[in-house]
Amino acid sequence: MAEGRVYNFSAGPSAMPLEVLEEVQREMVNYKGCGMSVMEMSHRSKEFMAIAAEAEKNLRDIFGVPSDYKVLMMQGGATLQFSSIPLNMLGSKGKADYLVTGQWGEKAHKECNKYGTGQLACNTKPTKFTTIPQKAEWKLDPEAAYVHYCANETVNGVEFSYTPDVGSVPLVADMSSNFCSKPIEVSKHAFIYAGIQKNLGPAGMSVGFVRPDFADGSKEMKICPTYCSWKTTGDNGSMYNTPACFTMYVMGEYLKYTKKLGGVAYWAEQSDKKSGLLYGAIDGSNGFYNCPVEKSARSRMNVPFTINGGDEALEKKFLDEAKKHKLYTLAGHRSVGGCRASLYNGLPLEGVAKLTDFMKSFMDENRK
Ligand code: PMP
Repeated sequence: MAEGRVYNFSAGPSAMPLEVLEEVQREMVNYKGCGMSVMEMSHRSKEFMAIAAEAEKNLRDIFGVPSDYKVLMMQGGATLQFSSIPLNMLGSKGKADYLVTGQWGEKAHKECNKYGTGQLACNTKPTKFTTIPQKAEWKLDPEAAYVHYCANETVNGVEFSYTPDVGSVPLVADMSSNFCSKPIEVSKHAFIYAGIQKNLGPAGMSVGFVRPDFADGSKEMKICPTYCSWKTTGDNGSMYNTPACFTMYVMGEYLKYTKKLGGVAYWAEQSDKKSGLLYGAIDGSNGFYNCPVEKSARSRMNVPFTINGGDEALEKKFLDEAKKHKLYTLAGHRSVGGCRASLYNGLPLEGVAKLTDFMKSFMDENRK
């Protein structure tokens, strides 16, 4: 680890691979001898157009995006896509199904109701978002314009380990917090979107993969803001307006690094190792640490846990002492409390080993 850096378990923006940061640092002041930084150049310059084209090509290669799908790079985060989805997809059907398994899916559903009818195909709020119900329990409407699910719920630590089967209704996935952590089945989806500030770069941009029948404007609502139109974004190569140039460039470096390591299969292997180690420590603690999420729905990315049945004073002590071991940003989301460790690509396996060692010694000292 580089001098002075810590193990950063932040849920996003989050740790990035040191190699990517160092490459960006090397190229910062004078990008490839062109006399200026990427931050300072026109988005229409030949240098930047090459950066954007290479980023798109690498997204297509790494995720196996079908050639007829459009790749979109947009600002406004995943949050703006909560609105863009109904605006581009509801069409004449006017209604859509939402599988709500956490707080982000809940927000996406709420946004749909501004433009049409968002139906709850399932809602696990009564379980405090700790489960994913079996398909037999989903209330799917065959006339829905689409079915939306959140592949990984960042706050609650709930992850789909499979692509939901919703028949012929177009499937939409918010992959913000597990994007680039495993291979994905793009062609089973009509739209995939992800803010990149977890596993693929700094904040400021989301990536979208959209099937051609939703990129042609045919289902776009008249009130759709130009900026939210996937047709406009796609037809203009994600440069209808000034894009988040520097973020796009850093994502491009992250993608190149991913390719060098062997693609998403490499990150999947690392994620399995890291989450396996941490869940092992939690489950082996005889209840001192507890993860509320049902085992089959546990996230490889965000691991929420309580200490001693939710003892807030002890959790505070844990967070304070963890910092002395360079283990940072382990507090749970402000809405749920407790602790949460996010294990994104930029957080190395050795950081999780350090965390589990610390958890063991903290337990030995504080178990009553
Ligand atoms: N969806 C998920 C799963 C998220 O984790 C987040 C951000 N934490 C969002 C959507 C919202 O993303 P943004 O803040 O980029 O709008």
